[in-house]
Amino acid sequence: MKRLDFVDVLSADRSSARESDLNNFEYSYKAEITSVYRLTDTEKLYQIRIVDKVQRHHFAFRPGQFVMLELPGIGEGPFSISSSPSRHGDLELCVRAVGNLTNFLSRVARGTVVGISGPFGTSFPVEEMENSDVLLIAGGLGIVPLRAPLFCVLENRSRYNQVDIIYGARNPSEMLFTYQYQMWRQFDINLEIIVDQADATWQGPVGLITEVLKKRIKTAGNDLSSNTYAIVCGPPVMFHFVCDMLINARLPMQKIFVSLERRMHCGRGKCCRCNIGATYTCLSGPVFDYWSVLNMKEAI
Ligand SMILES: Cc1cc2nc3c(=O)[nH]c(=O)nc-3n(C[C@H](O)[C@H](O)[C@H](O)COP(=O)(O)OP(=O)(O)OC[C@H]3O[C@@H](n4cnc5c(N)ncnc54)[C@H](O)[C@@H]3O)c2cc1C
Repeated sequence: MKRLDFVDVLSADRSSARESDLNNFEYSYKAEITSVYRLTDTEKLYQIRIVDKVQRHHFAFRPGQFVMLELPGIGEGPFSISSSPSRHGDLELCVRAVGNLTNFLSRVARGTVVGISGPFGTSFPVEEMENSDVLLIAGGLGIVPLRAPLFCVLENRSRYNQVDIIYGARNPSEMLFTYQYQMWRQFDINLEIIVDQADATWQGPVGLITEVLKKRIKTAGNDLSSNTYAIVCGPPVMFHFVCDMLINARLPMQKIFVSLERRMHCGRGKCCRCNIGATYTCLSGPVFDYWSVLNMKEAI
């Protein structure tokens, strides 16, 4: 497999030589970064378009699935698709710069050509959730995979009953997608945000996400059993507390869905990096119902 130079990736001049190098590269789709938006100090939103019009139109994914993004010459990594499935191959990925690949990515310019493979993994059963109340619960970067099912709800709002988003961030400067909150609320979505630490600008509640959830459960008479589904995305420590509260409110485990973003390398069930016992999270996950999670030793 041919590798490209990092210099090529950052070059504003996308020469024909580089294009032909890309044709030798092992990936499924050639894609172009069409826009880059800085959301916080560490997260950027990338709008990425599959270059070939036919491939772009036929690219189909389900909410909760991920793609492998390859930065030629640097490497590849799994990233949740954070856009609406109805946008096909016009994808949005939100990436936190944490290491080699993601720091290089944070420096690329609009127009950079990348490789996209996928979509991979399991998804949230948004059709099964129709005619029910939906609780979307996210901590930190967990709001990223949650946006795809949220778009499905927004685009088919009348098919869902009460919809709540409960979002916890460490502090106001780390809140993601702030520019969309008003739009979500216009779709009759009850959005509650809580931060661990306030700053001078913050007027909202301070504390843990479980405090907001407790209030929501109380308004349901401490019983969510009748007709509710929950999607929970965030750091593993959050799953325990949030899912325990949901179960105590009599929500069946099979109606609680989580996304387990274990360390993954190949995304294709070959490298044995992400397995939990015999379960490969890249193939059987990342989306699991909570019943399955509890039956996987050391899953969270
Ligand atoms: C299914 C799935 C979906 C993902 N979706 C997103 C997303 O939408 N946005 C996003 O920013 N990230 C996402 N990630 C995590 C992302 O893939 C990694 O952060 C990225 O691959 C790290 O590559 P790197 O070379 O920059 O970091 P490396 O140099 O490999 O590592 C830098 C640091 O990050 C840690 N790290 C690496 N991978 C992970 C991981 N999977 N989970 C936790 N810590 C990790 C390492 O332990 C190390 O401390 C997802 C991961 C999975 C498995």
